[in-house]
Amino acid sequence: KANRLFHPDDTIINVKGRKIGEGTISVMAGPCSVESEEQVVAIARSVKASGATFLRGGAFKPRTSPYAFQGLGYEGLELLKIARKETGLPIVSELMSLEHLQAFEDVDIIQVGARNMQNFDLLRELGKIDKPILLKRGMSSTMQEFLMSAEYIMKEGNDKVILCERGIRTFETATRNTLDISCIPVLKQKSHLPIIIDPSHATGLSWTVEALTKAAIAAGADGVMIEVHNNPEEALCDGEQSITPEQFHKIMITVKKYAEFE
Ligand code: PEP
Ligand code: MN
Repeated sequence: KANRLFHPDDTIINVKGRKIGEGTISVMAGPCSVESEEQVVAIARSVKASGATFLRGGAFKPRTSPYAFQGLGYEGLELLKIARKETGLPIVSELMSLEHLQAFEDVDIIQVGARNMQNFDLLRELGKIDKPILLKRGMSSTMQEFLMSAEYIMKEGNDKVILCERGIRTFETATRNTLDISCIPVLKQKSHLPIIIDPSHATGLSWTVEALTKAAIAAGADGVMIEVHNNPEEALCDGEQSITPEQFHKIMITVKKYAEFE
């Protein structure tokens, strides 16, 4: 179902009037984790003013260490909804467990994180609901495995799948992961699904975000997902890769020269 052979036209996913995959660039920006109402509302307001089209924010966090901040959980989702009400930006948040599915009913796009890309039971259940799913590529998954995971969702009837490349593990240690830019043309050739690039998780370094955002747009991505924090140094998660609202604003001014935004 994800295969372009049987579906030559690009899939366009309409989320509250914002069309992902239509030829314009979708910009999903926001903090790695929702930390407080003030934090998420302030970030949402500023990224919206700079041209973001979606607000991202983690409430349930897949942290490597069980002692690290795990996210605000249900409260985080409520705070995201407040930020959505304040700005009108649709929200994207990660679902880690089917136990929480009901609480995501009012989330606009459900994110499946890299670590859950092959959680097939989760994918199957998300295939039974009518909601866009942002599926992140597993850090050690091939493009074929990535597409097969999309297939698990689509097989059950949900064809609103957005692919997201967020960097893969390679021998390189200068960056957290390696952004696989080649997956844009390859996945576009193999599949009709929209593809979003997450430069923040790809390198883990805030200063690379601008260059890789430009590269993603030049290579034909349908959008980007960027971590923005109003105080990256104090961020409870992923501060090193988060850019400030001011930096985000500058990037948006630059990239608007390269492509059409919503
Ligand atoms: C995230 O988006 O904050 C996240 C944890 O992403 P990934 O699953 O790509 O690591
Ligand atoms: Mn993060």
